[in-house]
Amino acid sequence: MNFHILTLFPEMVSDGLNTSIIGRAKENESISIEAINIRDYTTEKHGKVDDYPYGGGAGMLMQAQPIYDAYKAITEGKNKKIRTVYVTPQGHTFNQKMAHDFAKEEDLIILCGHYEGIDERVLDEIVTDRVSIGDYVLTGGELAAMVMVDSISRLVPGVLHNDDSSMDESFENGLLEYPQYSRPAVWNDKEVPPILLSGDHKKVDEWRHNMSLLRTKKYRPDLLEAYPLTDKDRKFLEENSEL
Ligand code: SAM
Repeated sequence: MNFHILTLFPEMVSDGLNTSIIGRAKENESISIEAINIRDYTTEKHGKVDDYPYGGGAGMLMQAQPIYDAYKAITEGKNKKIRTVYVTPQGHTFNQKMAHDFAKEEDLIILCGHYEGIDERVLDEIVTDRVSIGDYVLTGGELAAMVMVDSISRLVPGVLHNDDSSMDESFENGLLEYPQYSRPAVWNDKEVPPILLSGDHKKVDEWRHNMSLLRTKKYRPDLLEAYPLTDKDRKFLEENSEL
């Protein structure tokens, strides 16, 4: 999968996505990440990319021309329209389902705004999806783009060592993941739940499912409302309501 990130701060994106699992995925070419400096495409002789908003108001707005030309440089010669995300607090809130959907694309363009945002006319021209990473305002779209690239990349085959390892993760089956423990079996007088040491995989799976239910009820009851609870699940939650 090829990510093309349109930004005024390419080094922020390149440096931030160069380590650990994502860095390794770039090296083994499961993904590519190209950070394109919008400023390189301005026709203004002093390299300006922003101007005052018509109608007044605080701050500066990124202008249409450099963004459109940078976009054209990516898309020229491609025979199909590339899905183009504008990261904005005004978009649909990003979630795991959207990450799966974007992970199907071969190419994805992510446009990062800065200052007060971007001239609406170029957004109307090139953007297919508006995505927010949450109900708060960042100074720029770079962190939002990095969040998206990170979570989408994990779903691209070959990025995680074991392709199964994303399946149990929070949100994948509509619940939060169960609590996990590693060695030693006793730490700070706290014991690992004995069932995890039993070697009985069926019982371990059942315990994990039940812990997922409890955890989701406690921290994300909104998810539990949408989850298809079985009669057994309901009984377990009723009997363990104090946990
Ligand atoms: N004036 C805009 C508004 O009120 O909707 C906010 C502009 S914000 C200061 C500058 C840029 O940061 C935006 O163009 C967008 O690309 C990015 N940004 C800010 N908050 C974001 C969020 N929650 N999710 C995704 N991108 C965000």
